[in-house]
Amino acid sequence: MVPVIALVGRPNVGKSTLFNRLTKSRDALVANFPGLTRDRKYGDADFEGRRFILIDTGGINGDEEGIDEAMAKQSLLAIDEADAVLLLLDSRAGLTPSDEALIKHLRGCEKPVFFVANKIDGTDPDVAMAEFYQTGAAQIYPMTATHGKGVRKLVGDVLEMF
Ligand code: GDP
Ligand code: MG
Repeated sequence: MVPVIALVGRPNVGKSTLFNRLTKSRDALVANFPGLTRDRKYGDADFEGRRFILIDTGGINGDEEGIDEAMAKQSLLAIDEADAVLLLLDSRAGLTPSDEALIKHLRGCEKPVFFVANKIDGTDPDVAMAEFYQTGAAQIYPMTATHGKGVRKLVGDVLEMF
């Protein structure tokens, strides 16, 4: 079985950065401004000899109007197609209302959800993690997608399920 893993989270949290790192694809748009990757995108990933499929998405926002609505639909489709979901959060920004809306939505989905505290670099990790643990998540994975820190532990744990 080749597991399918969806990356979700609001714009600018680092989904495409992680996607590119794991798939070695240069195609996903990595932008300094939010919302550029509007459609979901598939990548073939290899982690220590194990193959899996990654889906990169635009974000789901609390208020889904216009382009946000289109992105939300793509994310929902990706979650539907996936065996597991990685929810990315931005440690620098902390927990936002958009994150909370998305988390509420994910509670209703019957897929395993892994909480990821990305951009842990340059933050006080304890503060960021404590805030994210208030969501009730059993475990949160600290990560720096740009440098690859924490990626090995996260992907290892995800793949262990399959
Ligand atoms: P997406 O909208 O969720 O796909 O986010 P992107 O992957 O496009 O990243 C948005 C911005 O955050 C880019 O400028 C990335 O370089 C930056 N970024 C991603 N991961 C990290 C990280 O771990 N640390 C820092 N400092 N910046 C990051
Ligand atoms: Mg993106």
